Amino acid sequence: MKLSTAISLLAGAAPLVSAAAAPRLERKMNYDGYKAYSIATHHNPAAIKAKLTRFAAIPFNLDNDEHLDIAIPAEEVAAFEALGLETQLMHEDLGADIAEEGTFAPYTSVGAQAVPSLTWFNSYHAYADHITFFNDLQASFPNASEIFTIGKSFQGRDIFGIHIWGSGGKGSKPAIYFHGTVHAREWISAKVVEYITYHLLTQYATDAAVRAIRDKFDFYILPVVNPDGFVYTQTNDRLWRKNRQTRSGQSCVGTDQNRNWNYQWSVTGGASTSPCSETYKGLAAGDTPEIRALTAFTTTLKNSRGIRLYIDWHSYGQYILLPYGYDCSARASNHAAQSSLASGMATRIRQSYGTTFTTGPSCSTLYKTTGSAPDYMTAVGGATYAWTIELRPAGSSGGGFVLPATQILPSSIEQWEGIKYVLAQV
Ligand SMILES: [Zn+2]
Repeated sequence: MKLSTAISLLAGAAPLVSAAAAPRLERKMNYDGYKAYSIATHHNPAAIKAKLTRFAAIPFNLDNDEHLDIAIPAEEVAAFEALGLETQLMHEDLGADIAEEGTFAPYTSVGAQAVPSLTWFNSYHAYADHITFFNDLQASFPNASEIFTIGKSFQGRDIFGIHIWGSGGKGSKPAIYFHGTVHAREWISAKVVEYITYHLLTQYATDAAVRAIRDKFDFYILPVVNPDGFVYTQTNDRLWRKNRQTRSGQSCVGTDQNRNWNYQWSVTGGASTSPCSETYKGLAAGDTPEIRALTAFTTTLKNSRGIRLYIDWHSYGQYILLPYGYDCSARASNHAAQSSLASGMATRIRQSYGTTFTTGPSCSTLYKTTGSAPDYMTAVGGATYAWTIELRPAGSSGGGFVLPATQILPSSIEQWEGIKYVLAQV
């Protein structure tokens, strides 16, 4: 894809390219020899983008004011480096790093006979194994959990989750509601959500703090809310982001589910109307099967348990982002409480490995987004707290979306420590 196309994905507020941009190729993408760079923009990303229009680059981040992260094909590396931009190398050979990351350990089902092994968190896995792992985990705790499905993806896959409860019994407490992998290429998010699920279940009997948390809430945890996109990242294109929805008359595939929620969807500048864009918002709010199903489920939670805390787990950048995304001056009515809680979580995260997370309202801290999940959960879903967490790496180095498997466990452990703190407070 030409960066002229890519830049339209980044631009959001002011796309530089028309809707006539070429579709991303529907074939197996080979990133061998691509180098990925984080380019310092000194608060002027437009000036950098202007220099890159002739490159067939792949964009990683969207609208970040401080750095522009991109991958450059091997044959253009020399010309790119001749520009003399201030860069940090993210991937010496993106294809090689994808190959290493994509060496999945096999998962052998343990059925209901035993709790799955923690070795699950030593590598990434095929989508089918994520389903088996979740079913195995649930089967070990049949009296405190159940698997549920909320509907089907565009290609007909079940969107599944696990419901976990404590001593109050099934469906008796306020809801804690987690989504993972809305953006297909953000693989670490499924693993972190699974790690939290694993420990909520396995530590209930032995850890008083976990027991107290479990007894206060009903948990509804969906590790992969974009299953079609996630499968596509494993079969065709590791850097795919959107769902896999086709629309008549459009050559480009996919809608950004996190720009499709029915709250402030029509506001301009926080999503794209170009079907080829990475942030394509769809033709109407909620016109993706995935968001329709998630919206119906959210309504059920709102009208029954009420949503105490919602977190949408993403990567990357190391942020805890609070409402709102659609307007940089809008704040949640309990903003001070949200802000202080997020700071406390960042402190707990840092205590594990020194990893620094930045906290603040989504729009003013990172960039403007419309039709995003936390905005919807706050304004329509009635969630007391609704956040986006952008996991490792920070972005200037460390792998972008292709985070080495050796970082799954530390990423998960620091989030577990952070979320335990949050759940004890809310
Ligand atoms: Zn994301």
